[in-house]
Amino acid sequence: MRFDVLTLFPDMFEAVLGDSIIGRARENGILELNFINIRDFTLDKHKKVDDTPYSGGGGMLMTPQPIYDAYMSVVKNLDYKPYTIYMSPQGRVFNQDIAKELVNNYEHIIILCGHYEGIDQRVIDEIADCEISVGDFVLTGGEIPAMAVIDAVSRMVPGVLSDTASYENESHFTGLLEYPQYTKPRVWHGREIPEILVSGNHAKIDEWKREQSLKNTLKKRPDLLKNASLTDKDIKLLNSLKEEL
Ligand code: SAM
Repeated sequence: MRFDVLTLFPDMFEAVLGDSIIGRARENGILELNFINIRDFTLDKHKKVDDTPYSGGGGMLMTPQPIYDAYMSVVKNLDYKPYTIYMSPQGRVFNQDIAKELVNNYEHIIILCGHYEGIDQRVIDEIADCEISVGDFVLTGGEIPAMAVIDAVSRMVPGVLSDTASYENESHFTGLLEYPQYTKPRVWHGREIPEILVSGNHAKIDEWKREQSLKNTLKKRPDLLKNASLTDKDIKLLNSLKEEL
């Protein structure tokens, strides 16, 4: 899978997406990430990429020309239009379902990061297929949101993680939160791991995991339960957990 990121701050990305799992997937050729500096495309002799908004008010807006030319540098030799996302606090709020939608439908994604007060609307209208937000708050730039989207999508690209179970059992994949996890030592600060985990009874362990997952979701994010796919057994268990809580 390929991502091209249009940004004024390409150096921000390598520190986060150059190491660990994503870094390895890039080395192995499973992922291709390109960070394109919008400033390299400005025709302004002072390398300016922003200007004052016509509506007045404070701050500067990114001008359309360098963004469009940076975008064209990616698409000019392609015979298809890569899906183009503008990271924006006004977009759909990102979640695991959107990450799945992106990994399942697109091989090549362009991400546009705004900065300052944002971007001249005309270039957004011209190139973006959608806007994605990482939450109902405003950040300085689209770089941190872009990193979050690239990371969440990339870990579901086949071959990036050692097996699909690594992400399929995690929080949000099926609409529930994950069960609590434990590693060595068996006793730490007087706290023992749940006995069932060393019982060797895999059916019972799976049952425990499901129960804990339901319990975690009910306690921390009950709002998720209305969209989760639940069996009759889950519903029965949730009803008794509700009484218990
Ligand atoms: N003036 C804009 C508004 O009120 O909608 C906000 C501009 S923000 C200061 C600068 C840039 O940061 C945006 O162009 C966008 O790319 C990015 N950004 C800020 N908050 C974001 C969020 N919650 N999700 C995604 N991108 C965000």
